[in-house]
Amino acid sequence: MLRIRNLEAGYGKLRVLKNISMHVDAGEIVAIIGANGAGKTTLLSTIAGLIRATSGEIRFLSEDITRLPAPKIPARGCVMVPEGRQVFAPMTVADNLILGGHALPREQKKELDRLLAHQYELFPILEKRKTQLAGTLSGGEQQMLAMGRALMSRPSLVMMDEPSTGLAPLIVRDIFQIIVRLRNEGNTVLLVEQNAKAALAIADRGYVMETGKVIIQGPAEDLLANSDVQRAYLGREKLEE
Ligand code: ATP
Repeated sequence: MLRIRNLEAGYGKLRVLKNISMHVDAGEIVAIIGANGAGKTTLLSTIAGLIRATSGEIRFLSEDITRLPAPKIPARGCVMVPEGRQVFAPMTVADNLILGGHALPREQKKELDRLLAHQYELFPILEKRKTQLAGTLSGGEQQMLAMGRALMSRPSLVMMDEPSTGLAPLIVRDIFQIIVRLRNEGNTVLLVEQNAKAALAIADRGYVMETGKVIIQGPAEDLLANSDVQRAYLGREKLEE
């Protein structure tokens, strides 16, 4: 579904992504883990067209999207749930969701009601709060709204940037269970997380990034068992809980 080859990108003279190659197959959850500043958000932003690659290639569903401007990418079926949710605070929950459907092709717009009902089934709390302003939701509810908004365009690939940030452990568990359900319903998820243990526990495969490079990759269970990954990103004692 997504194939990245030798990707380089950054900010002005600052080179952040260095020769990144990776792929995501249909139906997978792929986790990207790494410390603060490793370049995870920069990678998602480059795939989303918000940052221009300086070299390399991004292919999505066989199309070269490396130079495609950001507004064109969601309609191709690649959406991002941004870090910090970024819901439209002065709008209602329902209007935030409906806005997420703007990337649907015109012939599918008549399905908006059905898609809205599907999000309410996936996130029952959003139905309860549908007339409430998004800015008044809790952090966990805002994360669900940001996910529901992204799913309204029936994407082939959902990229999630740090969905667990700032959430209580029980809420994180709910969010991760929903990500598993999305995968089980046939969605494909590229998940960026600092919470490496939780991300690898639900992922099929993972990539570890350090200073703009992929340093380790493999099946999630191999990464969980890898002593370097345990030492640097999981904390051995936590694994033994
Ligand atoms: P975090 O988990 O803290 O978000 P990250 O792995 O997502 O970390 P990035 O946010 O991609 O890392 O940052 C990678 C590098 O790029 C850092 O050195 C950061 O300071 C730099 N950077 C990020 N955004 C910008 C920007 N808008 N302008 C200049 N440099 C930036």
